Amino acid sequence: MAKILELKGDNPFKVRAYLRAARSIEALNSELSELIEKGEDLKKIEGIGKEIEAKIKELIGTGHLSAYEKAKKGIPSSLLGLLEIPGLGPKTVAALHKKLGIKDVNGLEAAARKNKLIGIANIREKAQANILKGIEILRRGRERIPLKTAFSIAEELKSYLAVSSAVEKIEIAGSLRRRKETIGDIDILIASSRPQEVGKRFLAYPHIKKVLAEGETKYSFITSFNLQVDLRIVDKRSFGAALLYFTGSKDFNISLRRIAQEQGYKINEYGIFSLGPSLKKLGGEKEKEIFNFLKMRYIPPVLREDRGEIELALKGQLPLLVKPKDVKGDLHVHSNYSDGESSLDELARKAQERGYRYLAVCDHSQSLKVAGGLDKNRVKEKEEEIKRLNKKFRNFRLLFGSEVDILSDGKLDYPPAVLERFDIVIGAIHTGFKQSKKQLTKRIISAIKSGYVHIIAHPTGRLFGVRDAYELDFEKIIQAALDYNVALEINCYPQRMDLDDIKARAAAEKGVVLSLGTDAHCLEHMDALDFGISLAQRGWLGKDNLINTLSLKKLYQWLSLKR
Ligand SMILES: [Zn+2]
Ligand SMILES: [Zn+2]
Repeated sequence: MAKILELKGDNPFKVRAYLRAARSIEALNSELSELIEKGEDLKKIEGIGKEIEAKIKELIGTGHLSAYEKAKKGIPSSLLGLLEIPGLGPKTVAALHKKLGIKDVNGLEAAARKNKLIGIANIREKAQANILKGIEILRRGRERIPLKTAFSIAEELKSYLAVSSAVEKIEIAGSLRRRKETIGDIDILIASSRPQEVGKRFLAYPHIKKVLAEGETKYSFITSFNLQVDLRIVDKRSFGAALLYFTGSKDFNISLRRIAQEQGYKINEYGIFSLGPSLKKLGGEKEKEIFNFLKMRYIPPVLREDRGEIELALKGQLPLLVKPKDVKGDLHVHSNYSDGESSLDELARKAQERGYRYLAVCDHSQSLKVAGGLDKNRVKEKEEEIKRLNKKFRNFRLLFGSEVDILSDGKLDYPPAVLERFDIVIGAIHTGFKQSKKQLTKRIISAIKSGYVHIIAHPTGRLFGVRDAYELDFEKIIQAALDYNVALEINCYPQRMDLDDIKARAAAEKGVVLSLGTDAHCLEHMDALDFGISLAQRGWLGKDNLINTLSLKKLYQWLSLKR
């Protein structure tokens, strides 16, 4: 309302009244709808008078606000779109519309590029450049990049910043700390008593494409990889509270704030405070303190999504998550028998370096010619070599495996006589993605029922930046996997991360077992298993939900159920 009224040049007092009300509503710990339900007097909230209270009730009761509809009339919707540009206020939009006839983002961009904005509504060169930056950010929108890519960029930046003596503490926050599969931007949090010095170092980073903001404690730029990095500098005594706040998720924070308030506390990015006649700061230097005050278990960042973890932490019943050291092997890698770069021996050595007891080398099957699929003779050669190598290993085994194509009719890409020879068979769809949901579901289920397949690889087929997940009747697949004791894979390849956390959790809750596989095509790819583990943790998986945590002996037993 405030933005629209200002755009129309309405009474400034009215505009300010809406802004004030909006700000105090944003700062509330409870939903307005809840307050109304409880019959509370909204006028007790700062900035809310009789008139605005009536409007809130109308909006929450009916889903509409007649005053808003009325105010909007006559304003082109594209002009309202201009208000979405970061840093562009209604007054400027109104002036640009009036003086230059600008109606939409494209028009604004064209005018700015021709230097026409200067002089209007006090716009100078810098402000004009900022408007162009804002347009770019708006357009870039919600482009996201794979976790692994963002992680390496963030780690590099972190070590670059940590060198400065002004940095007392440094952490990567945001969705990266929660290990989401894709990342929109990087959040870095620093504790320092010399913020300007830190900011100076930040802005001297060599891979900056564009600086977006430089304040005293808040900086942000776009890297040459087109990724936005936001830096916050806080006082050491608030570091834990700020870390909690900037780690999110947003939903998690909202719920946690509500829990705090119910217990007589207020939490924000500066600390935890006791409510009462005057706010008293109780803590905030460490995240753990805040959880302790709220009488709940520490919630690891991977779980902070408000999917039931807060309730369980209050009861002291958080799930026991799988740990990196529980994982005894990678169950999906490729060798140079198919399209991988490394020999069996090299793969085995890398696996042992990572502390594994076993490694399943699952090369492609015969019809996948583009990926060097193995014919019967090559399968035999590979089998011989694995036998030979396994004789010399101690406490380690290569598993003779195959990633067998599930053909478009649901049949497997080798005859039974070949399939039987493998220690481990992964079924996968690599062609015919355009089939209907029904066909694709049937195809996967017939592989599950085949009696030869141990694991379904990358079950939904998504590949970031290339294709979305295909549609599947996932309930049916879960049921079939359960009935036939087939594992569903969490493919840790950074562009796949498939299954995702939500589907993995749904499968595990029904009792389906899962399997971690990096789908590595070179040695370096094998390190992506760590991201697969965090994905499994985000899916609430424990040690018992994954077959990779089995001892070699137990794994052989499980695999031999199909032989
Ligand atoms: Zn595959
Ligand atoms: Zn593969």
